[in-house]
Amino acid sequence: MQIEVFQVNQGKYDVVIIGAGIVGSMVARELSRYKLSIAVLEREEDVGMGQSSANSAIIHSGHDPEPGSLKAKLNVRGNELWYRIAPELDIPIQKSGALIVAIGPEEQTGLPELYERGKQNGVPDMRILSREEVLEMEPNLNPDVSGALYTPSAGVVDPFQGVLGAAESAAINGVTFFVNAEVRGMIAQDGRITAVETTQGTIEASWFINAAGVHSDEIMHMAGSRPEFEITARRGEYFVFDESAFKVNNILFPMPTKKGKGILVTTTTHGNTMIGPNSDYVADKEDHSVTREGMNEILTGAARLVPALSPRDVIATFAGLRATGNHKPAGSHRDFLIEVSDTVEGLVNLAGIESPGYAAAPAIAEYVVGLMADAGLNLDEKKDWESRRERIPRFKELSHQERARLVSRDPAFGRIVCRCEDITEGEIVAAIHAPIPAENYDAIKRRTWLGTGRCQGSFDYPRTMEILARELGISMTEVTKKGPGSVMLYRQTKEEVV
Ligand SMILES: Cc1cc2nc3c(=O)[nH]c(=O)nc-3n(C[C@H](O)[C@H](O)[C@H](O)COP(=O)(O)OP(=O)(O)OC[C@H]3O[C@@H](n4cnc5c(N)ncnc54)[C@H](O)[C@@H]3O)c2cc1C
Repeated sequence: MQIEVFQVNQGKYDVVIIGAGIVGSMVARELSRYKLSIAVLEREEDVGMGQSSANSAIIHSGHDPEPGSLKAKLNVRGNELWYRIAPELDIPIQKSGALIVAIGPEEQTGLPELYERGKQNGVPDMRILSREEVLEMEPNLNPDVSGALYTPSAGVVDPFQGVLGAAESAAINGVTFFVNAEVRGMIAQDGRITAVETTQGTIEASWFINAAGVHSDEIMHMAGSRPEFEITARRGEYFVFDESAFKVNNILFPMPTKKGKGILVTTTTHGNTMIGPNSDYVADKEDHSVTREGMNEILTGAARLVPALSPRDVIATFAGLRATGNHKPAGSHRDFLIEVSDTVEGLVNLAGIESPGYAAAPAIAEYVVGLMADAGLNLDEKKDWESRRERIPRFKELSHQERARLVSRDPAFGRIVCRCEDITEGEIVAAIHAPIPAENYDAIKRRTWLGTGRCQGSFDYPRTMEILARELGISMTEVTKKGPGSVMLYRQTKEEVV
């Protein structure tokens, strides 16, 4: 099914969701079960460009949050839901299990308390393991390990594919996505929000769900809700290792501290091992920089778990920004803030959704829809709701027979465009025409993994641009790297320059 590219125009929706991260996209999917007209407004050029794709990508078991908190309840429920939803949405997920590792005799004394906390939160099948058991599971661990809490329900997910899967499922079920549509203002009438002003125009609705991540406080304040609440960005930096470096069988956490869950070691669904994050408050909510100090801190922290890791195998770095809530002047707001506003009618706030927000997202969606139903939203189920969604074909992962079948159906799958990663023209065309269309080079890269190999795109660039131009019916000089303002060619080679 193909969805057109939309321009926001006058029109009234039942529900408008602000922000297409994992939370907004999961809420959109959950609401799409019902006979409602729904739009999602995203300020970036694609879904999942905020913290939802710059994180550790752990489906936490739920052993860590404060018992009784929304974080605890929604994390454990979200963990259960992810293993059901990911196969429905063709999202890569691995239930690898996690070890919270104690180093030395002193840390070992903290394991029973962690276990008890997990038990109170309802985490299934946990065990405290001896030093020998842990080393058998993870031979590369620090030999000073004294034991670990094992939580087999923890797992890893492909974070961008998770958002894309949820968003495409919502789109297949009738939700309209507007990208490059930043909410800049709200229009209220008699204490009720009736419309939002975006960079593409005004859009009216009966309900507005604020799922704007680090910017969710700004949306609240535009609506006149919770002036005392603010979000501070808390940056976490990461190192990614070459696939051939080393892998871990479980997600490895250190013992938690007041600062959080600590610097972990995990192998991603793509097979690269990753270490991080640290935790630094930053003034600028767009500050994704990686720093020398941060990198040293991460290496030291991770080497405490796996001493043999070498920075020489690092191939990439990145940083994500946690949306940490704070009440002025009282201090930190440690839990998720999820509410139907009692001061501004028609507004739903989903704020302070920091970790374990990714793991909790499907449960947050369930919970929010329940709150909205209690507040009067009419939920009339669709008979034809489609629970399943398929990713575009992945030529590289197919057997010879499957490849042959695909090529005989569509010869474009027989033309390799990215030689390092074996990505075909057929995959690029499918991404361009998917329910959430990829309309620039980076969007195709995120969906297919093209250009991520040794040559870093130098072979596939011109071919991919040609395909984008052809499929979108635009000229090569209009093809962009990442949306408006990023054209890849300024003029034809032999064009006269005046
Ligand atoms: C370093 C780090 C590590 C983490 N590790 C984990 C983990 O391992 N497991 C886990 O469960 N959680 C983890 N988290 C937390 C998790 O990533 C978040 O809880 C989750 O992604 C929140 O999703 P979201 O949709 O609320 O926010 P986002 O993904 O940030 O989405 C918000 C969206 O709103 C858009 N937006 C903002 N303002 C506007 C506007 N004015 N108009 C329109 N759109 C707007 C943004 O562009 C963005 O796309 C981690 C977070 C970080 C930063």
